[in-house]
Amino acid sequence: MNTEDEEEIGRTETTCRICGYDSDDPVFNEYGVPQYVICPCCYNESGIGDDNVSQVRELRGHWVAIGAEWHEPKLRPTDWDLLEQLANIPPQWR
Ligand SMILES: [Zn+2]
Repeated sequence: MNTEDEEEIGRTETTCRICGYDSDDPVFNEYGVPQYVICPCCYNESGIGDDNVSQVRELRGHWVAIGAEWHEPKLRPTDWDLLEQLANIPPQWR
């Protein structure tokens, strides 16, 4: 197996493309297929409106603009930092 193959396989995404929340559960599987998981942070559902970067940016901009509220505030860490979380977003979705 060459390096290129390794990059193709194992691309499971556990990080929300919109807000960078990492659930440790796949939101897109290793084939890039959305798992339709609702993000407890920004409330986006993987596979809905997050398959191209301009839409992702639009959704993120909207979420931040309305105050970056958590959909499930109970899951919000006490030391939560928006900018730190946004830094988790994979480079191709920033
Ligand atoms: Zn999210």
